[in-house]
Parts: sequence; structure tokens; C-alpha cells
Amino acid sequence: MSGYCGRFAPSPSGPLHFGSVVAALGSWLAARAAAGRWLVRMEDIDPPREKPGAAAAILRTLEALGLAWDGPILYQSTRIEAYRAALARLRTDGHTFHCRCSRKNIGESPYPGTCRTLGLTAGPRTAVRVRVPDETIVLEDALQGRYAQALASAVGDFVIWRADDQPAYHLAVVVDDAWQDVTDIVRGSDLLSSTPRQILLQRLLGLPHPNYLHLPLALDHDGAKLSKQTLAAPVDGIPPAATLVAALGFLGQEPPRELARATVSEVLARALAHWTPARVPRASRIVGPID
Ligand SMILES: [Zn+2]
Repeated sequence: MSGYCGRFAPSPSGPLHFGSVVAALGSWLAARAAAGRWLVRMEDIDPPREKPGAAAAILRTLEALGLAWDGPILYQSTRIEAYRAALARLRTDGHTFHCRCSRKNIGESPYPGTCRTLGLTAGPRTAVRVRVPDETIVLEDALQGRYAQALASAVGDFVIWRADDQPAYHLAVVVDDAWQDVTDIVRGSDLLSSTPRQILLQRLLGLPHPNYLHLPLALDHDGAKLSKQTLAAPVDGIPPAATLVAALGFLGQEPPRELARATVSEVLARALAHWTPARVPRASRIVGPID
């Protein structure tokens, strides 16, 4: 084992679709090629979006695909106290303020700073936001290259604790990546623009910065990201080896077609032996049905 530690962190809002298999396989290959650990973390802290049975279905699909993980699964729903502790630290250090704006009256982003100086206190339907400094956060992504974001004008002060008293995604991710000693994050490029927010939280909490590699996204023919929300077909009904071969093709690894008739472990062994990160395309690509 090397010091490398990667992870796959699905949210249980539905079955795995092709785009999440690409992210799982890409992070698994990168971790195993580095003789590192590979963890699975279930990001189950958004109850309104969760589907009963989805977490178990995701794990069954990963098992069928032969993507074995190390150690126990971490369920974020068991970690609320750790997120509260991080929130308390940010508050004590003066990095936060309470906000009672609704999405309706402030729109999406950037946050206009409405509550920044109001001195609001905790209460029902009150979120906590982090004060974003006026600076550009720069990320050196292993695939996408240099990515810079002027966080204050692009996003503004963002929510780290939601008005429904749930931790926000960015806070939970940052706390858990550090707690689990994750060194390398390989995930879909839909999260690239979120990464500067996570880098800021790492810095404010005194946590290490992992390395990042954002994979291309799989798109539908109409250009939409394949996702559970757009009801992209789950991969459950497709032979696992064929799914892996399609995902390898998507990642630019040029697997021979006949590999789809091999066993899952043969496909993964070959994929690992031939894994060439430099062949992974940067740009998102349109995918058709897996054959
Ligand atoms: Zn506000």
C-alpha cells in the first residue's frame, strides 16, 4: 500500500447510471494503479432527495462491477456531530454569519451579501454562510489543468449549514475527505466549479488539500448530463463486463471490443495493466446506449 487514498462518494438518490460508473471506475483505477486505498462513502445527508433502497442498490452494482473497496462504507448520516464541530470552529473563528434569505428572494448566485452584517442569530429557517474573501482561488487539476475562480464574484458567501438544519454538501465533503485521509479526488467535472469552495473550507479549517482530477462527463444526445435526475438508464440491466468496457472506452483507454465477453475480473486486470491517465479526454462526450 502506498500513501495514496482515493474515494467514490455517491449520493443515494437513485441507481448508478453510466456517468457515475465512469467516475467510480476512474477513481478505482487511479487508486489501484498507485497501489493505494479506495474508499466508498455514501453521501446520505440530503433526505428529501434520497430514494429508499438506493444505497444498497449502488453497492450491489459496484460489487457486480468488481470495484472492491477498502474498509467499511462511511455513511455521512452518522457523521453529523463532526460536521457540527467544524461549523462551530468556523463560527468561533468569525468566518460565518446567519442568513434568513430564501432562494426566492436572492436567486441562485452569487449571494448578494444581504445578511452579512445583520448580526442574525440561530433560529428556524436560518442557514449559516461562510464569509468568502475577495480573492481568486487557483486549482491545479491533474486533467483539466489550471482552474481559477474569483469566489466572491462567482459564488459569494455560500451556505455551509442549511436552513433545514442539515450540513451543506461542501462542508461534509471537506470534513470527511480529511478525516478519511483521502489524498486524491477523482470525480466528474460537474464538480470542478465547486472545488474552490472546498479548497477555501479546507484552508479555514486547517485541513490538508487533496489532489484533484476531474473526469469528462457523459452527456445525453441533447447535451444534458446523464444523471439520476434526467432518468438516465441505470446500468443494472446491462452485463457488468460490457458496462466496464464502455466506461473504459469513454475514458480513452481503447479496450478491445472482445473484452466485453471476458469476466469482470479479467476486464479490470487488463484495465489496470493498461491504465494510461494521459489518454483520458478532457472534454465531456456524448454517449449512446451500451451494446
Ligand atoms: Zn441572507
